[in-house]
Amino acid sequence: MTRDPRYDVLFEPVRIGPVQAPNRFYQVPHCNGMGFLRPRMVAEMRGIKAEGGWGVVCTEYCSIHPSSDDLPQPYASLWDQADIKTHALMTEKVHEFGALAGVELWAGGAGSANLMTREVALGVHSMPNQKSSPFQTRAMDLQDIRNLRRWHREAALRAREAGFDIVYVYATHFYLLAQFLSPMHNQRTDEYGGSVENRVRLVRELIEETKDAVGDTCAVAVRMAADDCTGTPEQPVSEERRQMFEILAELPDLWDINIHNYEHEMGVSRFVQEASLEKTMHYVKSMTSKPVVTVGRFTSPDTMVSQIRRGIVDLIGAARPSIADPFLPRKIDEGRAEDIRECIGCNICYSGDSLGVPIRCTQNPTMGEEWRRGWHPERIQPKSSDATVLVVGAGPAGLEATRALGQRGYNVMLAEAATELGGRVTQECRLPGLSEWGRVTDYRVQQIQTMPNVDVFLDNHLNAEDALSIGAEHVVVATGSKWRADGFGRYHSRPCPDLGPTERIFTPDDIFMGRMPRGKALVFDDDHYYMGSVLAEALVAQGVEVCFVTPENLVSAWGVMTDEQYQTQQRLLELGVEIITAHGLDEFDGSNARLSCVYSERTRVVAADAVVLVTTRIPVDSLYKEIAGKVESGTSESAPTLHKIGDCDAPAIIAAAVYAGHRYARELGTDMEQSDVVRQDKLFDPD
Ligand code: ADP
Ligand code: SF4
Repeated sequence: MTRDPRYDVLFEPVRIGPVQAPNRFYQVPHCNGMGFLRPRMVAEMRGIKAEGGWGVVCTEYCSIHPSSDDLPQPYASLWDQADIKTHALMTEKVHEFGALAGVELWAGGAGSANLMTREVALGVHSMPNQKSSPFQTRAMDLQDIRNLRRWHREAALRAREAGFDIVYVYATHFYLLAQFLSPMHNQRTDEYGGSVENRVRLVRELIEETKDAVGDTCAVAVRMAADDCTGTPEQPVSEERRQMFEILAELPDLWDINIHNYEHEMGVSRFVQEASLEKTMHYVKSMTSKPVVTVGRFTSPDTMVSQIRRGIVDLIGAARPSIADPFLPRKIDEGRAEDIRECIGCNICYSGDSLGVPIRCTQNPTMGEEWRRGWHPERIQPKSSDATVLVVGAGPAGLEATRALGQRGYNVMLAEAATELGGRVTQECRLPGLSEWGRVTDYRVQQIQTMPNVDVFLDNHLNAEDALSIGAEHVVVATGSKWRADGFGRYHSRPCPDLGPTERIFTPDDIFMGRMPRGKALVFDDDHYYMGSVLAEALVAQGVEVCFVTPENLVSAWGVMTDEQYQTQQRLLELGVEIITAHGLDEFDGSNARLSCVYSERTRVVAADAVVLVTTRIPVDSLYKEIAGKVESGTSESAPTLHKIGDCDAPAIIAAAVYAGHRYARELGTDMEQSDVVRQDKLFDPD
C-alpha cells in the first residue's frame, strides 16, 4: 500500500543543527526501567523503534556524574569508558536504520537522592529531596558549578564518542537545571540567582559549552518547560518564562518542550486527552527559528499533520505512542494507519520505572522483551504445524492469543460466550474516563477480521464436551475471572462472614451488568488500583452518595506507580466523595458498616445502604478443569494440548492478560513451551 499524500509532510526531513532527521517522528527521551543496568535490553528496544521508522530515537535520562544517581529508578549513565561502549550498542542499532540517536544528559539536583553512589546531591540551595528521601542537597558554590559544567562537557564528549547525534541540556522535570530556572526554588544571591538573566545563566553556559565541545558534529537540544509554576489556568505562561525563551531562543539547535506539571504532561487518558500540551506550549515556535518538538500522546496522523500545519511543532514527539507501537511511522508511511496499535494512556509503561523493573506495555506485549525473549513487535515465527487451535474467551488474553496465532498462520477458532468481543476491557472501557482502553479490543478485532484462517464464534458458551468435540489439536482457555462478593482479599485473609444482606452487597461485575446500589454506597477498595475509584466516580454520576474506604493511606495507592494517584484522589474529593483511609471493613448489616483503623484498635460506624466490594477476583477456570479431567481420565475422544492463560490462570492487570496471550501464541509448538528461562541482562561485558 502507498502513503496517503495528506501525511507526506510527516516524512519530510528536518535539519537539526549539523545533523538531519530523516522524518518528523521523534522518540523523545523516556525512562524504561532498564538504564545502565540492562544495556542490551535498551539497545534492542531502541533499535526496533528506529526500524519502525522513528527518525530520532533518544535515551532515557542519562547521568553525567555519580552525584546524579536515581536508583532504584534505573537511569542511563555516561560516567566513563564502559558507559561509552554500552551506549554504542544502542547508537549502532539506531543508525542501522538511518535514524538519529539522542542522549539526554541529566543532573539530578534535589530530584536524586544518590542512594547507590552515596554522593551528596548538589542543589541550587540546600533543599529537601523531592521524592521525600530524608536527604538534603548541598547548596552549590561557584566551584561546584564549575565542576558541574566540566562534568557536563566531559559527558557530552563521551556521548559523541558513543555515536550520539543529538546531545541534550535537560532543564526541566524539577531536576537541577529546572531548579536554577525556577523563580520559586532559586533564591541565590550570586550571579546564578536573582534576575532572569542570572537564573538562566547556567543553562545558557551549558548550551554554549556543549556546542563548543561537540556542536560541530552533534546537535544540541534543550528540554525545557513552556511554563513555570507561577502561571494560572487561564494564563499558564508567565512573562518571565517568555523572557527566558527570548534569551535562549537561538542558542540550541532544537527545542524539546514540555510543561512543568508532570502529571499532566504524562497524564493517563482518564484525566488528560491527546495533544493537551498545545494550549501551554503553542507560543514557543514563534520565539525561535529552531525546530520545536513536543509530546501529546499523539496516535492520530491527522492530529500530527494538524500540529505541523498550524505551526505548533516541527517534529512529532512521542514516548508512549512509540512504546505501544514502535512501527507507528512505518504504518503511516505504508498507508496502513488502521494497523497502528494505539496507546491507551494507562501508564503501565511508567510503572516499570517506578518499580525499578523493565518496561512493559498493555498494548504492546513485546515491549521490554525484544532482547530478553527475542520478540519483535511485528514479526513472529510461522506456525510449526497445520494444527487447529481453539481459544475459549475473547478478553484481552484470548484476543491477543488469537491475533498472534492467526499471524503465525494457525487455523484458529475463537469462541466467546458474550455477544461482543473484549471481555473485561469492553466492560471497563464504559466506565468514566476509560474509553480509550477500548483500543485494546479494537486493535485486535481489526487485525483478526483480516485473517481468513481465524473464525470467531460469538454467543457461544462452551462446556467441556463442546470444546473437545471440536477436535482442535490445541485448546487454550482464557475465560477470565469474577470479582468476589465475600470480602476475601488483602484485608480479610478469608471470606468475611459478617457482610450482608446479599441484595445490598455489590461487586464491580454487578455494576458492569447494570445492577446499581441505591441511596448511600460504601465502596470498600482493597484492590488499590483504579477500579475502586473509577466505580466511585461512576456511582456519583448515577446520583449515588459514595463513601470510599480503603485500608491504604491513599486512594488508589498503586496509582502512584502509574503517576495517576494524585489526580485520582483529587477527582474523588472534587466529586464530594467522603474518603476514609487506613480503615478496613469488618461488618455490614444492611444499614451500617463497622470499620476498623488499621493502626489502632479504634472502630467507627458509617451509615450505608449498600456496600460495593472491590477486593479480589476468582479465576473462572471450571471449563479448564473439566477439560483437563476428561483428557486425563481418557473419557474424551480427542486429547488436545491444554493451557489456561490470563485472568482465568491468575487475575491481574490487562497488560498481564495480553502478555499471557501473546506468550502462549509465540511458544505454541516450540521448545520454549516448557521453558521458563528468562535471559538476565547483567554482568554485562561489552567486550
Ligand atoms: P482475560 O483478561 O484473561 O482476557 P476476561 O475476563 O477479559 O479475561 O475475558 C474472559 C472472556 O471469556 C469473557 O468475555 C467471557 O465472556 C468469556 N468466557 C467465559 N467463560 C466462557 C465459556 N465457557 N465459553 C466461552 N466464553 C467464555
Ligand atoms: Fe500506552 Fe499504556 Fe502502553 Fe504506556 S503501557 S505505552 S500508556 S498503552
